[in-house]
Amino acid sequence: MVINFAAGPAKLPEEVLKEVQANLLNCNGSGISVMEMSHRSSNYAKIHDAALADLRELLKLPKNYKVLLMQGGGTGQFAAVALNLIGRTGTADYVITGSWSAKAAKEAAQYGKVNTVVPKVDRYIDVPRQETWKLDPNASYVYYCDNETVDGVEFDFVPQLPTDVPLVCDMSSNFLSRPIDVNKFGVIFAGAQKNIGPSGVTVVIVREDLIGKHLKITPSVLNFELMDKNDSLYNTPPTFGIYVMGQVFQWIKRNGGVAGMCERAKAKSKLIYDIIDKSNGFYICPVASRARSHMNLPFRIGSATGNEALEKEFLTKAESQGMIQLKGHRSVGGIRASLYNAITLAETQQLAKLMQAFYENNK
Ligand code: PMP
Repeated sequence: MVINFAAGPAKLPEEVLKEVQANLLNCNGSGISVMEMSHRSSNYAKIHDAALADLRELLKLPKNYKVLLMQGGGTGQFAAVALNLIGRTGTADYVITGSWSAKAAKEAAQYGKVNTVVPKVDRYIDVPRQETWKLDPNASYVYYCDNETVDGVEFDFVPQLPTDVPLVCDMSSNFLSRPIDVNKFGVIFAGAQKNIGPSGVTVVIVREDLIGKHLKITPSVLNFELMDKNDSLYNTPPTFGIYVMGQVFQWIKRNGGVAGMCERAKAKSKLIYDIIDKSNGFYICPVASRARSHMNLPFRIGSATGNEALEKEFLTKAESQGMIQLKGHRSVGGIRASLYNAITLAETQQLAKLMQAFYENNK
């Protein structure tokens, strides 16, 4: 038995993988695989449209929001967001709370002026309260990353902007893990490879009135207006990824919807954080408790900077019990357990059991 705690590409629901497998050679009775279907065929259209309809239902998307299925991953959207939105005033506000929002700001700076609204920090361990942000009233948009995958820093609030500047959010690593009020956002994007599917497809939700304001240099594949006008079929979309993602949406619907995912995420992450907090400093999560991620849980073992020998032993022990991909991101080290939607409570309990036993043996 293997339990995959990877940060992404990450575990998909076993049920979905089995459905994909059963349908692989003969997709929905077409006699061919989804990978071999024309993206203009009626068979594919059903898959494409069902995925979009299910996503709209899961998020209760208001009519004035468009869903685009794009390529280029989260990184593609770092550029796309700026290319499509920064033109209004030439500047944008970036709330940098981790390495992904930092990368997004760097990318956007190629296309306009970037204002960083919170002070630079050596280590990302908190979300500064909104009262401290230095917002620019002239910004074309305010950008933040809801869940920083590397640092394990997750917003515990949705920013309330004093003006009608649109809010742009990277939800790549916590998309569909908790209910959101889409009306509060101008753009939400998410690469699929954590919570909703394989890599290669990126979901972009855009408020209608923000479409059509791109810079002239915007490449066609990153152009929201072109993608929208062509129902995300301007060019060949990542058809297989969209198909798998659609199956994941169905699975989420069968399992309590986004609210169900949220309950699971709270229960799973609590199990692990409780062990950390009751370990008398043996396990250390550097993130402020209010900003602790429900999806990516980073921690050190033995000391705040980590006892590398102990951490190595922990990872070896975990692997010997089938628990894999628990190594922290190379930039921060230590351990990181990613508890995305597809990770079950029973699987999390296995990890909790290992952590408790390892603590008892080494404290
Ligand atoms: N944003 C977040 C929050 C991420 O975790 C990642 C990747 N892990 C990215 C953006 C970049 O995504 P991609 O690798 O698909 O470009």
